[in-house]
Amino acid sequence: LNFRAVQFLTSAPTLAECPEDSGAEVAFAGRSNAGKSSAINALTGNSKLARTSKTPGRTQLINFFRVGDTQRLVDLPGYGYAKVARAMKDEWQRHLAFYLEQRHCLRGLVLLMDIRQPLKEFDIHMLTWAVQSGLPVHILLTKADKLKRGPANNTLFAVEKALKAQGLDNGVTVQTFSSTKKTGLDKLELKLSEWLAV
Ligand code: GDP
Repeated sequence: LNFRAVQFLTSAPTLAECPEDSGAEVAFAGRSNAGKSSAINALTGNSKLARTSKTPGRTQLINFFRVGDTQRLVDLPGYGYAKVARAMKDEWQRHLAFYLEQRHCLRGLVLLMDIRQPLKEFDIHMLTWAVQSGLPVHILLTKADKLKRGPANNTLFAVEKALKAQGLDNGVTVQTFSSTKKTGLDKLELKLSEWLAV
C-alpha cells in the first residue's frame, strides 16, 4: 500500500452516511491534541488531508481516506475538549460507539496518546471496549521527540506493563511515534499494511 497516495474520500456525520461497509478500514482515534492530524499528515505526506476543524462546537465528522481500491483510513473525531457541552460529548460518543460496533470492515484501531500523558480515561475506555470486542489496537505514543530516548522507552515499557496489569494487552501493540521527527513511521506503516491486507 502506498500511503503517500492517500486521497480524501468523504466525510460522514453519522454511520448512515458512511461509505459502503465493504473492503477494509483502519480507524484513528485519540483525545483532542493527541497529535492525530499530525500523524495522518506525516503518514500520507499531505498536510491538507486531516485539516479537520478544531473548533469546539462544530459538527463532528468521521473522515474517510482512500488508500487502495478497497481500503480506507478513517479519522474519528477528536475527543476531550473541556469546552464541549456534555450533550455534544454524549452525541459524539453515540456516533463513535455505533461506528465501532457496527462497522464490519473495521480491521483495527490506531489509538494515539501524547507520550507525556498516556492512558487517560478516554484511552482506557477505548481500550477496554476494543479488547472486549476483539478489535486489535495499535497505540502510538505521540510527540516522542518531546522526551529523550531513555525516558521515551521507559514510558513505552510502563504503558505495556500497565496494559498487562489491567488485562488490556490482548491484541494490543504499542510504539513510540513522532510526526515532527518522522520516527516510528515505518512501524506504523507495517501495522497498517498487515491490517489492510486483502
Ligand atoms: P489532534 O488534535 O489530535 O489532531 O492533534 P494535532 O495533530 O493538531 O497536534 C496537536 C499539537 O501537538 C499541535 O500543536 C502539534 O503541532 C503538536 N504535535 C503533534 N505531533 C507532534 C510531534 O510529533 N512532536 C511535537 N513536538 N509536537 C507535535
